[in-house]
Amino acid sequence: MIRNMISKKKIIRNSEKPIQKYRFYVQSAFALLCIWIGVEFYFFVRYLESNGTAAFYNRPPGVEGFLPISSMMSFFMFIVTGEIHYAHPAGMFIFFAIILMSLVFGKSFCSWLCPVGFLSELVGDAGERFLKKVFKVKIKMPKWIDYPLRSIKYLLLGFFVFSIFFLMSTMAVRAFLDSPYNLSADIKMFYFFANISRTSLIVLSVLFVLSIFVRSFWCRFLCPYGALLGILNFISPNKIKRNAASCIDCGLCAKACPSSIKVDKVITVWSDECTSCMSCVDACPVEDTLDIFTLLPAKKSFRPGKKWVAIGVVSIFMAVTGIGIISGHWQNKISREEYLYLYKNMNSFGHPTGPEAMKKLNEESYEKSRR
Ligand code: SF4
Ligand code: SF4
Repeated sequence: MIRNMISKKKIIRNSEKPIQKYRFYVQSAFALLCIWIGVEFYFFVRYLESNGTAAFYNRPPGVEGFLPISSMMSFFMFIVTGEIHYAHPAGMFIFFAIILMSLVFGKSFCSWLCPVGFLSELVGDAGERFLKKVFKVKIKMPKWIDYPLRSIKYLLLGFFVFSIFFLMSTMAVRAFLDSPYNLSADIKMFYFFANISRTSLIVLSVLFVLSIFVRSFWCRFLCPYGALLGILNFISPNKIKRNAASCIDCGLCAKACPSSIKVDKVITVWSDECTSCMSCVDACPVEDTLDIFTLLPAKKSFRPGKKWVAIGVVSIFMAVTGIGIISGHWQNKISREEYLYLYKNMNSFGHPTGPEAMKKLNEESYEKSRR
């Protein structure tokens, strides 16, 4: 009855400022920024390859955003000692920005900024269209496979967190951060992709193909970063809420959700897979029925609205990284000469396997670089 009483005026169409196009613009801009960083870093590596004879290109600090483990360890050091480690300070600021935006807007980094998330989304969209057109099917993972697979990313996160926060002392973390392995981690990462091994290529190809059939395969099942942000999602006060009184049970929200959340069956979305993408809100045809709300202890929720997710996510990222830049902690303190030394000896730097090994490696190898 109540549903029948809903005025036709309340039924709106998706043309009413859907936020998805703005999300696409933000994702595209961030992806272009990452490509730009990649190009700059390529020229920096070319300079190292020339042994310092080619024109010098500044190393783009943003490349440190692709070193999540090192960034997490720098963040740990900062929390414990208040010191910003000199090797990858930009990585630490980027890590902090992502943590902060997740605390405020849930797992929003995945659907608004992450270039891997963006690529997965594009591949997933193309895969869905292809499967619908050619085989007339839409693949949905059964729960009994979905849940165990989703736990893999938490196991990977648990391994990293346990290794860093429980097995390593502050000294050992510092020794790792000071180690030449960590100092040259960005160059090693560059060569991982530039001279990709057959095994790595096969693994990446398999992940790509799987992403065609199962939307965001990497993000949903394997990404430990996503697992961390998914946990923070539960703490975030901003949640998708449905007004059951005005809902017409059309199911369009659940159909639009890329994370397969049954939005139409809950009042508040409490899910580690919700990325605050706002697809469900855009899809809802009934005014004032689905939106993002700030849960307050009082009965009344505050409604920031979907546009504030867009503005908030971008603002938090720019503010935190801006503080890093303005405070003079964006560029690292490794000189050109040290980079040339690190580049020349890069292949002799193995992964430090224990505090003692790291300390020894650090003392022996890095002292050489300073001579
Ligand atoms: S519940 Fe809504 S905001 Fe969350 S992932 Fe699904 S569509 Fe996006
Ligand atoms: S889109 Fe979802 S919340 Fe909106 S009316 Fe349909 S079922 Fe209800």
